[in-house]
Amino acid sequence: MPSDSRTLVVVGAGVVGCAIAAAAAERFSDVYLLEALPKPGMVTSSRNSGVLHSGIYYAAGSRKGFHCLRGNRMLREFCDRHGVPWRPCGKLVVATGPEQVPALEELARRGAANGVAGLELLDPAQSRRHEPHLQVAASLWVPSAGVLSAEALVHTLLRLAQERGASFAPHTRLLDMAARQGRLELHTGNGDFTADLLINAAGLYADEVARMAGEDRYTVYPVRGEYCHIHRRRRDWVRGLIYPLPTPLSLGIHVTRTVDDALLLGPTARYVAAKDDYEHDLLPREFFLEQGRHILPDLQLEDLSLAYSGLRPKLVPEHGAHDHSAAPRPSGDFVVERDARHANIVHLLGIESPGLTACLSLAQEAVELIAAD
Ligand SMILES: Cc1cc2nc3c(=O)[nH]c(=O)nc-3n(C[C@H](O)[C@H](O)[C@H](O)COP(=O)(O)OP(=O)(O)OC[C@H]3O[C@@H](n4cnc5c(N)ncnc54)[C@H](O)[C@@H]3O)c2cc1C
Repeated sequence: MPSDSRTLVVVGAGVVGCAIAAAAAERFSDVYLLEALPKPGMVTSSRNSGVLHSGIYYAAGSRKGFHCLRGNRMLREFCDRHGVPWRPCGKLVVATGPEQVPALEELARRGAANGVAGLELLDPAQSRRHEPHLQVAASLWVPSAGVLSAEALVHTLLRLAQERGASFAPHTRLLDMAARQGRLELHTGNGDFTADLLINAAGLYADEVARMAGEDRYTVYPVRGEYCHIHRRRRDWVRGLIYPLPTPLSLGIHVTRTVDDALLLGPTARYVAAKDDYEHDLLPREFFLEQGRHILPDLQLEDLSLAYSGLRPKLVPEHGAHDHSAAPRPSGDFVVERDARHANIVHLLGIESPGLTACLSLAQEAVELIAAD
């Protein structure tokens, strides 16, 4: 039974906000989940690759690394227990030529240092035992990666939250807030609320919600990832997940066999000006063909059709690396922190990949932080 009678408002019903509401409702008797849109998970949480990441990529000691590893373990168990479709297919990160092999070996060392179990460097013949169509110089086998249905996960988390007593308020955009005598007055597009505690899980808009509380150190930059579908006649070309080496901006344009057995190629990575710019000036199929042929050399233009796109909520500006000003630059790591002025507010910012994998772990940290107030 919930033991804390303070009113907690969670802003944003993406996968992270839903996970927070489900975890919080075990402790708090009054939990409200506010969502600007008509349904949960309509933006980033349903516009991604649906990959359960293993944690190989992230810098030692980073919040991304910690939450990815812990989140991977928590999510496997959660999906099994609650019937969320997922598959522990594992993945190959490939070196397409010999010049890429040192970088692949470095990735293997980093993954092992992060505590990822079962990593194996494979030669071309061993690589083909996992993915028979692959022609590569070497690959890294990552057995703890998988795929899951992000949509089913969001809906399962929301159902659990509601079963535990949380209230879901769709069409309810938080417009402003004011702190008065230790309480928070919340002004929304659907009426006003009063709360004792607030968790900001507003994804692309988390910087704007933070600014309502007076926290103006963060800016969220939308970075678009576009996808193509690969025609079902090529379905047998890929069994699981095939990734190139990561780039500084993303994990690279990869091939995913989804839980529904569709083949996806993407995502690209490009800074865009607006937080709702999913479709302006889309990349042509020819671009995807060129990228896809690094992994599947026999791919043809008629195998590809443009699919959906998603926006990463990045904390690092496009030219951040070239900014020589003295101002401290954001690191690009996940931010989960108590507001500097208001101890009753917790912000989550920069929850880009692996945020889907990490959702249960992030929720645990956010609820522990807010409950300790
Ligand atoms: C192209 C792409 C590929 C990805 N692939 C993967 C992957 O394979 N594996 C992985 O682990 N992660 C992946 N990610 C990352 C993952 O999708 C995100 O980290 C995760 O979905 C973030 O969830 P969220 O709940 O924080 O944000 P969101 O899903 O953006 O949810 C935030 C919610 O807040 C609502 N909101 C905003 N402002 C307000 C307001 N003022 N009032 C009320 N509601 C508000 C929004 O409408 C939205 O529903 C990918 C992301 C992208 C873009």
